[in-house]
Amino acid sequence: TIPVIAIDGPTASGKGTVAQKVAQHLGFHYLDSGALYRLTALSAIRRSVAMTDEHGLAKSAEHLHCHFDGGHIFLANEDVTQAIRAEEVGNTASKIAVLATVRHALYGLQLSFRKAPGLVADGRDMGTVIFPHAPLKVFLTASVEARAQRRYKQLIDKGFPANMEDLSKDLRERDARDMNRASAPLKPAEGAYLLDTSDMTADEAVKQVLGWYAA
Ligand code: C5P
Repeated sequence: TIPVIAIDGPTASGKGTVAQKVAQHLGFHYLDSGALYRLTALSAIRRSVAMTDEHGLAKSAEHLHCHFDGGHIFLANEDVTQAIRAEEVGNTASKIAVLATVRHALYGLQLSFRKAPGLVADGRDMGTVIFPHAPLKVFLTASVEARAQRRYKQLIDKGFPANMEDLSKDLRERDARDMNRASAPLKPAEGAYLLDTSDMTADEAVKQVLGWYAA
């Protein structure tokens, strides 16, 4: 069977960077499941689907015309790599991710990323729901302060406006929504290794994950 490394954790815990580097090192495919929620959000925003229209939001997820190519992300044929990182899109993604219908609509698409020689999957429910039989599951955490700092730097580097106070508040709200939702709440999967990256560099975290995988 094709191995999967499931890496879950809260917003801005460093999952994305760590998961991509682990995938690169092993020559595995990479699934950024958060991008699928962001794409669904962007698609819904573009088509003026109301946030109260659960059926319309599920349809946006079900008919997501997206593809991933060399680090770029496309919706229909438009490069939205930058656009989906905007705070508004992330916030909308976090809200629609509460809906079980949206989560179901994205299930099959996520499974399709599992291809030889292997997959590193990053998200909130990779180990608990999507790939429960993954041979390695990791739950990354970091303090709110460390995560707000990282998010701040990411946004500024990408040319988006950012403010530490708003970011911390926003992170706490997103954590609460992810952890308290009924459908696939954010929590460590059974058998997951916990890794607090507050005082770690990305490379140190990568080394730890690769160490666990090799063991
Ligand atoms: O990880 P990222 O911030 O890009 O994800 C955007 C939003 O999608 C998150 O705030 C989270 O609520 C949701 N998400 C999810 N399950 C996943 C990945 C992301 O609910 N597997």
